[in-house]
Order: sequence, then C-alpha cells, then structure tokens
Amino acid sequence: MTSHRPRVRFAPSPTGDLHVGNARTALFNWLFAKHYGGDFILRIEDTDQERTSPVFEKSIREDLKWLSMEWDEGPEKGGMLGPYHQLKRLDIYDKYIRELLSAGKVYPCYCTEEELEAERASLRSMRMTPRYTGKCRKLTDKEREALEESGRRPALRFSVDKGSIEFNDLIRGEMKFEGDAIGDFIIVRSNRIPSYNFAAVVDDHLMEITHVIRGEDHLSNTAIQILLYKALDFEPPVFAHHSLVLGKDRTKLSKRHGSVTVREFRSRGILSPALLNYLSLLGGSVGEGKEVASMEEIINMFSLERAGKSGAIFDEDKLKWLNAIYIRRCDVDELTELLLPFIGEAGYDVDLMSRGWLHQVVEALRDNLVTLADVGLYLDIFIDDRYSISDEARAILIEDAAAVKVLHEELAQRNIPEQDFYHDLIRSVRRKTGLKAKNLFLPIRAAVTGRTSGPELEKVFAILGKESIVRRLERAMQIAT
Ligand code: GLU
Repeated sequence: MTSHRPRVRFAPSPTGDLHVGNARTALFNWLFAKHYGGDFILRIEDTDQERTSPVFEKSIREDLKWLSMEWDEGPEKGGMLGPYHQLKRLDIYDKYIRELLSAGKVYPCYCTEEELEAERASLRSMRMTPRYTGKCRKLTDKEREALEESGRRPALRFSVDKGSIEFNDLIRGEMKFEGDAIGDFIIVRSNRIPSYNFAAVVDDHLMEITHVIRGEDHLSNTAIQILLYKALDFEPPVFAHHSLVLGKDRTKLSKRHGSVTVREFRSRGILSPALLNYLSLLGGSVGEGKEVASMEEIINMFSLERAGKSGAIFDEDKLKWLNAIYIRRCDVDELTELLLPFIGEAGYDVDLMSRGWLHQVVEALRDNLVTLADVGLYLDIFIDDRYSISDEARAILIEDAAAVKVLHEELAQRNIPEQDFYHDLIRSVRRKTGLKAKNLFLPIRAAVTGRTSGPELEKVFAILGKESIVRRLERAMQIAT
C-alpha cells in the first residue's frame, strides 16, 4: 500500500439510475477509503451528452446518500481539485490535447461512422478483431486540407504502437494486452468532446487518484489508459478490477433478471443497511461465514483483494432474508418512520393514525415483514372498516367454529379491564372446548384477523380491544352457520 493517504473515486456516467453492480463498485471504493483512512471522490462523467441526463445524476447522488456513501469531494461538496463534472473541465483537457498533438502522438481522423462500420465489417468477415486500421494516420497535409474543406470535422486519434501493455492488477495480478489488437483510439470526438478514456486519465491524474477500483469490464480500457499515462508522462495509479455482479444464470446482472437498480429495491422496501450489508458480502467480500455485519465491522474486515475475485451471483432471496433481519432489529420509532410512505402507498391515510397506535401495530407486525412494502399486506387486520375475511380463513371457519363461539361467549360476559385479557380468555376457551394448538388457534386467528397467518394474536387482541373483536367474532359466526 502506498504510504500517503489513498484517494479513490466513483465516476458514474449518469445514463440511468444507479445499478446495484455500480453501487457495489462505489461501495468498494468507499470501503477502501474508510478502511485506509483515505478520501472518496465523486466525479460525474457526463461527456456523452446524448445519453447522460441531470435527472439521472440527481438520482445517483440521492441513492449514494441513501446508502450513506457520502463523498469527501465532488458535486455539492466541492474540493480543491474540481470541478467534478467532466463537461466543466473542457478547458483543462485542451492543454493535454495540445500537448499530445504537438508531440505527434495523436492525429486527426476524418472517417465517418459509416466508413468505420464498413471497415469493422470487412475485418469481421476476414475473422479479424474489428478495430481501426489507421487509415487517416497516413493522410498527407493536402488530403487533410481537402477533407476539411469538404466540411468534415475530425476526431483525434491516438497512435498506438505495436508491443505489449502490461500492468499489475491489485485483484487479478499480472495483466498483458497487445497494442496491435487495440488499434488507434479516439481521444477527442469530432464534436470536440473528449472520449471517456482520455478524460478519465487526465482527471484521475489531476485529482490525484491513487487507486482506480472498477469492474472487470473496464480491463481493456485500462490498457488504453496506460498508453495515455505514458504519453502524457503521468504516473499511473494502482488498478484493481473486481468481478461483476451476475444473475443466477451467470450472465451479467441486467433488467431481464428483475430489479437491478438501487431505486427499485428502495421502492420495494429494502432497507439501506441491508442492501449495503448484502453488497458487501456478495462474492465473499467480508470474512467468510459472517453474514450479518455492522458497517464498522464491514469497514474493518474489508479486503479489496478478497472482495473482487470471483463472480458474484445476485440472490434476491438472500437480500430479502437479510432485510427481514434488519427490520426486526430496527428501533420501533425508526421503523415506523420508514414505513409511513409504504403505508400511504398501500392506500391508507397516515394522518388518521395516531403515533401511539402505529407504534403498537408496527411492533406487532415487524416479525412478519420481509420488506417495508409488506406492511400493506397486513395493515387491514387492525382497521375495522378494511378488515375482510380471506377465502382460506372462511374455509377454516366453515370447518370448525367451536372455538370462535366459545370465545365470543367468554368475551361478551367479561368486563375487560385493560390489556392482557388474551391469555386469560384463551385459557377459558381451551378448558371449555378441550381444543388445543392449531385446532384452537387457527379458527380464532381466522375470525379475528381474517386470515390464516400473521402477527401474534396476543398483540392483535391488545390493539383491537373488546368491541372490535366481538364484532369480528359475530361476523365469523355468521359465516360458520
Ligand atoms: N464512467 C465510467 C462508467 O460509469 C467510469 C469507469 C471508471 O471507473 O473509470 O463505467
């Protein structure tokens, strides 16, 4: 490890919402910074004006904050080495473009997209790797002038020499690429906007990035970038390429596999610490055998070398399993707060619900919630005019409602004091009917909650109170007869 303070960056292109694969890249960078006491920088790579949008940038920033991955430098935060949007750095790139031009390391290329596609197609037909063959490298000044006059605007291409490009990847070890296979690449497009590879190198250098941590799909870009580091006489950072997140079929995780963005999981009621915990252990990033870990433990145990080796298969069931654990661990106040939007979404007016009542309901329900959105499946149990009896519950009541009848008699006779009348009542019903276990509880559950599974009856009774339970038992008895 370098002796100075590490500086890492997450550099999203805002072309969509934050994908969990990219969130994992951000997380690895963030954990690396936290583990080694370094800085985490956010840089927005917005040079592809057709595909990027400020709406996505905003959404990515919000999701990073939601995941508590605050950046030390970047948009909103500022910093000494900004600006942190590539489109605001065009003047900065100019200087280096001129340097490469005057050193003869780049040349103008006038080929149109159609010409380039025809060239690629012809290489493919000869079973060769499609790449740029260097046609415009050989243009004479006269030919260039003529092309300029015909109105063509050139892109700038970097002349790639033969020979191999080697680097040591922190996760994958020695890597080697052949210059021949790369072909002269574009550093500035014909619209004068720098390409990703060029802008990233200039930025990583000027922003003093010490470690570039990104997905292995960028390996071939790294070979290109190393050529630029050399040409510009910059010292390259340490590179680390982690494996990608895969779907169950072992192909790169994409929309076909279901939810893939942080936003989707968030709106389905996954908690931020659960997603963070899940993404950290995905692919064995944290010590083996440790499944639920606090952020502090994750930061302490983090090892980049271990984090990114094997392909990580995204398993939504495991994420949900972790989420349920986090819901159970959540403080009731906090959980209630988190549930409010989901209660609204399920069609309830939270303004009509008192905080005290909501706390009780949340306390009763929390063990049944796998996601926050699940609250919508159970809330009707606690609200008289929403309560209804499911077909399954109906079938149970039709089969045997003895316990329900006796419970009704018992309850009607009693002057219920305050809380905790449940155990006393159940004891009497058991004594009078001789029913036990499922035969006793299932019909009662069916009658009182309208369904065959759900929160603990004791808690439901305490929340509903006598009047409501009596009315429900009466309705259940009508079904039973
Ligand atoms: N903008 C690039 C991307 O989103 C960043 C790659 C890198 O980290 O250099 O894939």
